[in-house]
Amino acid sequence: MAKTTSRGKPATPRKRHPRSVVQRKNTSLPISVFANVMKQFDAAARKLKLDKSLLEFIKMPRRSTIAKLPVRMDDGNYRMFTGYRVQHSIARGPAKGGIRYHPDVTLDEVQALASWMTWKCAVVNIPFGGGKGGIVCDPQELSEGELERLTRRYVADLIDLFGPDVDIPAPDVGTGPKVMGWFMDTYMMKGSASIPGVVTGKPVLLGGSLGRAEATGRGVMICTREAADHLGINLADATAAVQGFGNVGSVSALLLHELGVKFTHVSDVTGAISNPGGIDIHALVTHVEKTKSVLGFPGAKKIESDDVLYADVDILIPAALENQITEANAHSVRCRILAEGANGPVTPEADAVLQKNGVLVIPDILCNAGGVTVSYFEWVQNRIGYFWSEDEVNRRLEEKMVAAFGDVLKMAEEHKTSLRIGAFMLAITRVIQVVEMRGIYS
Ligand code: NAD
Repeated sequence: MAKTTSRGKPATPRKRHPRSVVQRKNTSLPISVFANVMKQFDAAARKLKLDKSLLEFIKMPRRSTIAKLPVRMDDGNYRMFTGYRVQHSIARGPAKGGIRYHPDVTLDEVQALASWMTWKCAVVNIPFGGGKGGIVCDPQELSEGELERLTRRYVADLIDLFGPDVDIPAPDVGTGPKVMGWFMDTYMMKGSASIPGVVTGKPVLLGGSLGRAEATGRGVMICTREAADHLGINLADATAAVQGFGNVGSVSALLLHELGVKFTHVSDVTGAISNPGGIDIHALVTHVEKTKSVLGFPGAKKIESDDVLYADVDILIPAALENQITEANAHSVRCRILAEGANGPVTPEADAVLQKNGVLVIPDILCNAGGVTVSYFEWVQNRIGYFWSEDEVNRRLEEKMVAAFGDVLKMAEEHKTSLRIGAFMLAITRVIQVVEMRGIYS
């Protein structure tokens, strides 16, 4: 039966916006993630007073590709999928960035994520540009065989874009080491050479790096620790909340928990839990592995999902999706440090509110750069054909992240601005220096 409103009129179906263009409250305009990056870039560029045409050149994506991907499903029928690959910049080195499998993937989102990769690689000073890819699909709905065929079709269709010196993908939301293994294998069908460096985040047995799976969360922990030190917060007395308990959220929480931080609020896509006395993060990881949900964890009560963002804690880690904190809810955020585990969880308008309220935001292009840093280490190990111990990887990551945090803080303090704008200023300066030295071929 058709749905009706309380007045008996047929209900208008609610239009669902992908999360990269989440509907603004009180207006009909959606929030474009790519527009958010442009605003962040422009705010930093204005402070740098650089050549406008050069800024325009480095700001826009270099190449965006859209592919139709037919895949034979298990029932024998073909289904069409849409895939994207965006190379935002190759000024400092090959394009580098993950591949996302999610129903809400859009070109807008992939362009934004590719752009953030350019700035992220420059902030941690590794020799890569920025790229990102995605396929509009729900990996939970697909069988393993369907996922493998979809991945192989995507790689085969776009094969000329990729290469260890050209464009190097990695996992993102909805993809992981297994997908990267299929990616590498399909790419190698091009010839007979072994080229493991075409992709990072591979299983360790296929040439992946030790420490890669935990690297993003480890980087979030290092940045949070540095920020706490800067503000004079003792982590052993600090409380925290984390939104998203996947790769980034769970590892960040585990490592901070090991430093004595008490997590009182945790959420994932299934819901949220709280325990003012503290949640045992090790036990929660085991619970989620078994049940696929944070809900039902012993000793914690179920709460509204959004309440995790508004928890009265020292540290908040959004580690799920973009556009979670907007101008509509930023006033309710009560933490002292907001560590962006996810890409783009805070909109530029919300950023202004948080800054006014004295929240120290560690921007995504610094905070979650641990993943791409160890991806770089993986690529280096693939090229030299020698593999480092996990301790060696973690030691090098620590060194890179501490240096990047210090560089960003210095830039922000010198220009009396936020860490986000400081990070963008640092990244833009590093990209422009290279572009000026290379010159623009035209
Ligand atoms: P993931 O798929 O492993 O985990 C995502 C988590 O978010 C899951 O726990 C999911 O349940 C949860 N989630 C989804 N929707 C939610 C909602 N509405 N409310 C609360 N929780 C929700 O993904 P990931 O690799 O951990 O990535 C998370 C974020 O970190 C993304 O923005 C990604 O781009 C970014 N990131 C990841 C890496 C990496 O190395 N994996 C590196 C840099 C940035």
